[in-house]
Amino acid sequence: MNSLLTCPVCVKQNKKSKVYSYGVRKTLMGYRTYHDEEGVYHDHNPNKHSELLICTEKHEFERKYYKPCFVSTCEPYEPEEIIILKED
Ligand SMILES: [Zn+2]
Ligand SMILES: [Zn+2]
Repeated sequence: MNSLLTCPVCVKQNKKSKVYSYGVRKTLMGYRTYHDEEGVYHDHNPNKHSELLICTEKHEFERKYYKPCFVSTCEPYEPEEIIILKED
């Protein structure tokens, strides 16, 4: 995942912080990758990933996301979600 990530609480409070990852949990659903009619390889992972993140201002939040397929035109299962766990 190369998307930009900043602490949503710091953004609201106009602060700058570094964000540290405290690990990713994910669901363990089985699935199959496949090659489509043109031979293109697809990896549509149905498992939801939850990453715990804590910023240097001690705000805690969670990022919930699905691993996108290698094919950029394929839509992810659901858009990424950010949930704030601790604001102060
Ligand atoms: Zn913060
Ligand atoms: Zn795909």
